[in-house]
Amino acid sequence: MQKLLIGSNNAHKVGELRAIFSGLPFELLTLADAGIDYEVEETGTTFVENARLKAETYAQISGLPTLADDSGLEVAALDGKPGIYTARWALPDLNNPHRAYARVLEELKGKPFHDRIARFVCVIAIAWPGQPTEVVEGILPGVIAEEPRGVGGFGYDPVFYLLDYDKHLAELDPEEKNRISHRGQACALAREVLELLAK
Ligand code: IMP
Repeated sequence: MQKLLIGSNNAHKVGELRAIFSGLPFELLTLADAGIDYEVEETGTTFVENARLKAETYAQISGLPTLADDSGLEVAALDGKPGIYTARWALPDLNNPHRAYARVLEELKGKPFHDRIARFVCVIAIAWPGQPTEVVEGILPGVIAEEPRGVGGFGYDPVFYLLDYDKHLAELDPEEKNRISHRGQACALAREVLELLAK
């Protein structure tokens, strides 16, 4: 079966992708499976640049078709921040859900609804030897709430309000989140690309 390298050291992410891409004629490999002990430095200035950089670098090192992603939160009134720095804004307490979004709430303190408009973005790049790299994107629009609600998801989900649902993202069950999320949308498109490339 054709091998597909996932350019990530995040075991949780690789597990999710295995489920999403099940049924496709690909054997998904982690970086560890491919014997790669190297972390690509995310020096790009956009999600697209970082996703491409990771996919193309790991494809070059391994000689295998490679998929990599980059995602984060953009707040319009903060000039698109935290953007590609989303994970770093959540540090040093990434695993404490109250800390992950504390800085965004702080920066938006006292701001009206229209200044709290935001979106989650997920870009997936697929680097395929001998072909131009394919790039797909998913976007989930919402509003940064003043208070957290819900216990599901991770990171910024408790403060991400979905107008269409009148719910915070952390109040959706995992299947519902995956169906509508930036990552779910990008993965659905990536699946279509992989189906075509497998032919
Ligand atoms: P990564 O590039 O997929 O590792 O995501 C970067 C950062 O964006 C994560 O550390 C989270 O803080 C944030 N993020 C990405 N997707 C989501 C999501 O679905 N919910 C909440 N936070 C997210």
